[in-house]
Amino acid sequence: MLEIRDLHAEVDGKEILKGINLTVEPGEVHAIMGPNGSGKSTLSYVLAGRDGYEVTGGEVIYDGKNLLDLAPEERACEGVFLAFQYPVEIPGVAGTTFLRHSVNAKRKYQGEAEFDAMEFVKFVRGKAKDLNMPDDMLKRAVNVGFSGGEKKRNETLQMAVLEPKLAILDETDSGLDIDALKLVADGVNALRAPERAMLVITHYQRLLDYVVPDKVHVLANGRIIKSGDKSLALELEEHGYAHILEAAA
Ligand code: ADP
Ligand code: MG
Ligand code: MG
Repeated sequence: MLEIRDLHAEVDGKEILKGINLTVEPGEVHAIMGPNGSGKSTLSYVLAGRDGYEVTGGEVIYDGKNLLDLAPEERACEGVFLAFQYPVEIPGVAGTTFLRHSVNAKRKYQGEAEFDAMEFVKFVRGKAKDLNMPDDMLKRAVNVGFSGGEKKRNETLQMAVLEPKLAILDETDSGLDIDALKLVADGVNALRAPERAMLVITHYQRLLDYVVPDKVHVLANGRIIKSGDKSLALELEEHGYAHILEAAA
């Protein structure tokens, strides 16, 4: 599903990713943990194709394609999804409208019939119900005036609606209280499927009590310094990052 080989990337002339190697098979959930500033968000932006993030070396193979050759919108239509660490507010665009256009762009790209407005409302309401999101949140402008937790739940709804092949969740757990965390985790777990891979980026092990990863990687200073199974996350929780950073050094 995803093979990252010796990926180097810079922002504003500063090298942030310094040789990332990572292979994710279909059906797997990989957690990426790491201290602040280690390059977790940068990795997610490079995979999604954000402007200003320049790849200076290496390659990324996604679903048999050279991901880095594709425009951001092509990546999205090919099934790559990124839940932002800091979700963007879009004044004047209702949530339902935003999602319908997103889904229809993808369906059109894949040669499928587009949803009409009525069909889509039914579809999206079902998804919102699964995440315990009130209908009025869908009518409001995307993320405008939403609390931190509501924005994160809205990202999870976008994921549920877009049904990605590769979902990248950048700290979707940050700022959530325990009830919201469980709802988001349920939403993520509901999307686990043999044909879908997920990269779950998190600073804390707490989310991983609910979304149990197949593999855990520690990113530090632009490199993966350690990989393991879910017990690695518990080790981090117990001893902190300093312990693993010292051992790696
Ligand atoms: P993380 O998500 O792990 O906290 P980031 O990927 O956000 O880390 O940032 C990694 C490093 O890149 C940090 O040192 C950050 O200051 C730096 N960085 C991010 N964006 C820019 C930018 N636009 N210009 C210069 N440095 C940046
Ligand atoms: Mg950070
Ligand atoms: Mg980040």
